[in-house]
Amino acid sequence: MKQRLFTPGPTELLPEAQVAMSGPLPHHRKDAFKKIFSETREMLRNVFKTSGDILVLASSGTGAMEAAVANLLSSGEEALVGVSGKFGERWVELCKAYGVRPHILAPGPGQAVDPAAVQSALKANSNLRAVFVQACETSTGVASDVEKIGSIVRRFENSCLVVDAIAALGVSPLQTEDWGLDVVVSGSQKAFMIPPGLSFVSISPKAWKKIETSKSPRYYFDFRKELKNQKEGQSAWTPAISLILGLHAALRWIDDFGLDRLVANANRLSRSTRAAAVALKLDQYSKSPANAVTALRVPDAIGGADLVERLREEFGVVVAGGQGELKGKIIRIAHLGYYDFVDTVGVIAALEITLKRLGYPVELGAGVSAAMKEYLRG
Ligand SMILES: *Cc1c(COP(=O)(O)O)cnc(C)c1O
Repeated sequence: MKQRLFTPGPTELLPEAQVAMSGPLPHHRKDAFKKIFSETREMLRNVFKTSGDILVLASSGTGAMEAAVANLLSSGEEALVGVSGKFGERWVELCKAYGVRPHILAPGPGQAVDPAAVQSALKANSNLRAVFVQACETSTGVASDVEKIGSIVRRFENSCLVVDAIAALGVSPLQTEDWGLDVVVSGSQKAFMIPPGLSFVSISPKAWKKIETSKSPRYYFDFRKELKNQKEGQSAWTPAISLILGLHAALRWIDDFGLDRLVANANRLSRSTRAAAVALKLDQYSKSPANAVTALRVPDAIGGADLVERLREEFGVVVAGGQGELKGKIIRIAHLGYYDFVDTVGVIAALEITLKRLGYPVELGAGVSAAMKEYLRG
């Protein structure tokens, strides 16, 4: 059966990137590869919208999250963490692993991190050396306003803003430099349309100052060592050569297609999916919906696991279920990367049929029709 990934990572692979990854390996210390690596970092700057430093690391997204904590902070320091779901909790766990004391800012279920609450917390505690947030919290489909949060944190000289944009970059508008985002992390298996295994991190001058004085242990992920090497078109360790060839091809494709168009596409598809959900009377979990992923509550009478399983078995449609306490309670449909309107109506039609088979009252075509109307709004 033809399988389609509608999961918020990994996502469908870009054919051009697959071709680029299938050739022989260039040696990573030779000029041909150095050129590709340098071009790749340059194109990443365009996606992050920064003229500052970007590092490419061989790890999944969590590796870059850990690297951000380790490079920026020292044991005994304090940080503010906005938690809108599982990935926010990951920041908390990472802080604890490095002896950093996390102060948790937890908005209600499905709610975004409140910029005003970030401001109050920073004002009340001058020891907060960093603020950690998710631009898109993939586990709940919640988007937070990192532009606003950036405008606040930039006024606090001793605090850096660290943004997990792993699922948001290339899907939502994001301006690293103009918005004052000190560290932004992302990963290859989301909107970049290539397999997992690479992570990216941008570092502002304000963050570098902090990194120079951090006392946390680090070896593989040492930003100072990486920057020195990456400026020369190298990486400190053997890079994931094939993935970088794939990334280079994907970034060329993004440049050609247009980053703004890619973002607008995800926005339109997420709106279409939400319109379908309204028509099908499926509640949305997120009060601040992200472009990257739509989280829908599974009707009580139907098991979430059953719904996910049936979609895969009958239609080859792979969606994500809920994580942690949301297991069996929500399904998540991604609009990330190599994904278009035909995919969107397909997944909605498959969902309608599956819900009907499970005994949920569906007027067939209601969701698809609503999605079509929303699509036509542009
Ligand atoms: C995918 C994702 C991650 C990273 O997870 P890995 O499995 O380590 O790649 C982190 N944060 C968010 C918001 C994500 O969507």
